[in-house]
Amino acid sequence: MSEPTSEVRSKLFQNLQQVQTRISRACAESNRSPTDVRLVAVTKYTAESLVEEFLRLGYMDLGENRPQQLLERASRLPGSVSWHLIGQLQRNKVRSILPRVTLIHSIDSLKLLQHVSRIAGELQRIPRLLLQVNVSGEASKNGLTPQELQRAANEFGALPDVNIVGLMTMAPEGANETELRATFGGLRELKDQLNQADIGLSLTELSMGMSGDFEIAIQEGATLIRLGSVLFHECEPMR
Ligand SMILES: *Cc1c(COP(=O)(O)O)cnc(C)c1O
Repeated sequence: MSEPTSEVRSKLFQNLQQVQTRISRACAESNRSPTDVRLVAVTKYTAESLVEEFLRLGYMDLGENRPQQLLERASRLPGSVSWHLIGQLQRNKVRSILPRVTLIHSIDSLKLLQHVSRIAGELQRIPRLLLQVNVSGEASKNGLTPQELQRAANEFGALPDVNIVGLMTMAPEGANETELRATFGGLRELKDQLNQADIGLSLTELSMGMSGDFEIAIQEGATLIRLGSVLFHECEPMR
């Protein structure tokens, strides 16, 4: 595999600096500390040589949306990487994924959670998980609707061998600022409601915000932002 050229390296560095500046500014505007917002670099379209370059800059949180690609990359890249699964998890991948991931962002049904709970028990692991919520109710999006989650919240809270630490959402395609704030603010309110419901859930994380909307997500309370194109664009001809 060819090494990134120096132009590619400096472009990546520049992208990263710009992103950090924008994160800091969004935090300052909303009286939040930049240390409360973790950057998960989404590498699903990114060549592995560029991912290695990114790791050399001191970042360790990587997100992949396909379990198979996550597993393959995890087997080649340093063990110090924290892997985030951000895309759909098929039941037959649960057993291989659990030992590899820091956080699964995409638990999108009670059935999947029950399955994860069972496998986690067998493996004697307690995975950290986020419930993916389809806040906007858009038909094309994966995730639990807020109503489904509220209705079955007791069951979510009662499962053993899983540590549900928060919620994740994706904004509707082409949403304007009002819709983005409604989606991200809606997720934050849902988290607060579930925490107050006294059903054994103690949620601290909100995974929301991508390249096109992360500043608004930060202003609305994101603790994890998932950025791909804004970091890696113009670093490779492949996109
Ligand atoms: C691809 C992807 C992202 C990153 O998208 P960008 O717009 O490139 O930042 C974030 N979250 C999920 C779930 C994704 O699939």
